[in-house]
Amino acid sequence: MARTLIKNGTVISPTGRHDFDVLIEGETILALLERGKSDSLSITADKVIDAKGKYVIPGGIDVHTHMELPFGGTAAVDTFETGTIAAAWGGVTTIVDMALQRYGENVHEGLAEWHRKAGGNCAVDYAFHQIIGGVDEQSLKDMTYLVDHEGVTSFKLFMAYPGVFYSDDGQILRAMQTASENGATIMMHAENGIAIDVLVQQHIARGDTDPKYHSYSRPSLLEGEATNRAIVLSKVAGNVPLYIVHMSASEALNALAEARHEGLNVFGETCPQYLYMTLEDHLARPGFEGAKFVCSPPIRSKHDKHDHHGDLWKGLRMNELAIVSTDHCPFCYKDQKELGIGNFSKIPNGMGGVEHRMELIYQGVVQGELSLERWVETCSTTPARMFGMYPQKGVIAPGSDADILVWDPNKKTKIGINDKHHMNMDHSSWEGTVIDGKVDTVLSRGMVVIENDKYTGRKGHGKFIKRGLCQYLN
Ligand SMILES: [Zn+2]
Repeated sequence: MARTLIKNGTVISPTGRHDFDVLIEGETILALLERGKSDSLSITADKVIDAKGKYVIPGGIDVHTHMELPFGGTAAVDTFETGTIAAAWGGVTTIVDMALQRYGENVHEGLAEWHRKAGGNCAVDYAFHQIIGGVDEQSLKDMTYLVDHEGVTSFKLFMAYPGVFYSDDGQILRAMQTASENGATIMMHAENGIAIDVLVQQHIARGDTDPKYHSYSRPSLLEGEATNRAIVLSKVAGNVPLYIVHMSASEALNALAEARHEGLNVFGETCPQYLYMTLEDHLARPGFEGAKFVCSPPIRSKHDKHDHHGDLWKGLRMNELAIVSTDHCPFCYKDQKELGIGNFSKIPNGMGGVEHRMELIYQGVVQGELSLERWVETCSTTPARMFGMYPQKGVIAPGSDADILVWDPNKKTKIGINDKHHMNMDHSSWEGTVIDGKVDTVLSRGMVVIENDKYTGRKGHGKFIKRGLCQYLN
């Protein structure tokens, strides 16, 4: 088996920094050696990567992506091939995508469809959550089958999007009761979709149709309310593990923090857009440009009574928020976002970001928002543990998959459609952003997939990862 040695770098883990050389054999990590030991032991390797002055971290894990998702009469534009190549460019070596079952559809067929889309096409490893858009007797049974046999152990429900993905409180409770029996984690899109739909119609009727009204019609109070309601339901169902996706608002974070303080199995994630973007600077751009930044929950105002950005960064530091994901759901501006000209409610919801999460959260380290260790923890190690992939993923340790990101803190990255941009959309959500660091080399199960500013991987290298249960429960 081929041996690769990553020499002279600093290995970062959630618990510290160590000057280790990393020896890889085939697809897995064979050993960590103290600096200099690989020379004194005369270790030989087929390939040596010099990581002097660089950080060596477990490859990023993005647990919230939507490749090829049908939405709003169109579909997200990254295929599993283009999306996982972009992921590799961003130092991400595993994605967990959302397989889809809608009301009236069969769960097994939904999952099979996702295997068809991803199988043989991925540049890095992938796993699935299952969206349950129609909770009924059959889909509840199917959930247990997926946990026991398919390596799909988490199910996403929606309190938003009535008539599309929405579940009512009774359906949510039943799904949670099922999860309390089979051990699954319930993931929740927590926004009060029934109330939001009323506000949306009222805005449109008044002629408030520009992209920024997307945010005004989805107030943070309604994210807070839904988050709290989901938490209460999970408690009624027996403290079932609940994971609130893409948290954007202080009100929701407060509900989460209170639940965690109470000792409940409640966890949360946020995404880079909620840590950096504002209604005023992005959604409210002149003309229709704000449509690029329409996602749900929406980008919040910087003039709210809460400092959402500050609170979310603090939440990440304090482990109120466990994970940063992207909710990668890319749509082109032309012909897709443009579907909502004259009516913001017709703008497909979503942004592309799988390529930039490691970069953007590293910039948080540079800005003093969180530590290097916490960067690794929230973007790699905790995602692996939360969704049952540890220690195969999320750690640089003997026996683990050789999924590794070598990060250069001394170079810069300029993000933009004519700079660094490998996703399939016709624009970048992060146009012009400069990062004080750079993805240097990326390995996926021992294979170098990014090196010297070139993609060296191949379609079909990425394989499906069967997951176990959440590893944070008592
Ligand atoms: Zn999503």
